[in-house]
Amino acid sequence: MAQTADQPVPSSFRCRTCDYTSAVAKAVCPRCGSGGGMSPEPAAGGHVVDFVPVLFPPENLKGLGRYVSVLVKLDTGCQAFGVFRGDPERLRVGTRMVVAHVDAEPDVPFFDVA
Ligand SMILES: [Zn+2]
Repeated sequence: MAQTADQPVPSSFRCRTCDYTSAVAKAVCPRCGSGGGMSPEPAAGGHVVDFVPVLFPPENLKGLGRYVSVLVKLDTGCQAFGVFRGDPERLRVGTRMVVAHVDAEPDVPFFDVA
């Protein structure tokens, strides 16, 4: 799948040598000059905008069983759909969430209550 502007996981990029971060990957770090490259980093967290418990997951998420689909407004200002595998009773609009991890396959962020 091609990386497009509306990819589901808004990321920043962090220098592998220092902690410089940028919205775009750079070959050479402008802070420390390291040519070691930058690694993508998912947004750290955000707040629940909407959520819906999913009883019948789509084909690509079948392995999850029941989960909660959450729409999270990230600290970066973007909104992203993600997966919360806990009790939907713990979620409210505005609940603080953090990105637990991002799986390459399926390409969705997993959120946890902060
Ligand atoms: Zn650096």
